[in-house]
Amino acid sequence: MRVYLAKNLREANKNSAADNRKILGEHGVLMVNMMGSPGCGKTSLLEETLKRLSPKYRLAVIEGDLYTAEDAQRLKPWTSEIVQINTEGACHLEANYIGHLLTQNSPSLLDAEILFIENIGNLVCPAEFDLGEDIRVTLLSVTEGNDKPRKYPLAFKETGAILITKLDLLDYVNFNLERATLDLKIINERSVIFPLSAKTGEGVETWCNWLESLLKKKRK
Ligand code: MG
Ligand code: ZN
Repeated sequence: MRVYLAKNLREANKNSAADNRKILGEHGVLMVNMMGSPGCGKTSLLEETLKRLSPKYRLAVIEGDLYTAEDAQRLKPWTSEIVQINTEGACHLEANYIGHLLTQNSPSLLDAEILFIENIGNLVCPAEFDLGEDIRVTLLSVTEGNDKPRKYPLAFKETGAILITKLDLLDYVNFNLERATLDLKIINERSVIFPLSAKTGEGVETWCNWLESLLKKKRK
């Protein structure tokens, strides 16, 4: 019988992530790994993001879900470079899945200027797996409550941007934006925080401008 420790398997993931980062670098692709709970608004925000950026840039998406291609269908109007991964139960994406797509199944993803990954809806283990992304983004919707960053700190600690979503619902839920900002700053002082609403469009422009600035930086 063979027994493997999860930490050693994660070591293998690190190697795959480094390979991905190298390939993406060679092709000048900015890869954005989006994480957050089921229902936090990842796909809705992606719709609004693609709508705004697709006239200017070549965009691609890797959609992660346990089952269905519903989210990929929603994003189809904005890009033809879209791949759905169905994990059939696995609760996070790993670097070798992405590597396999980039080098074997869907190398045309590398023609994109920005490649978005919508990770599996899950606030726990996606944060443990580097996919080789340039930037990680973690979403927190106001409907999830103030306690989530304190209870699930890793997803907010290991990220470059925190998007506080569904701002249009702030008046209807028990969520204190100031408190959330303070908690998030304690967990991760380096991350930028963007409060926004995909529904009203509030804050979406600021988020998109930030992505554009990352792309410019990468090209230098
Ligand atoms: Mg989704
Ligand atoms: Zn998992």
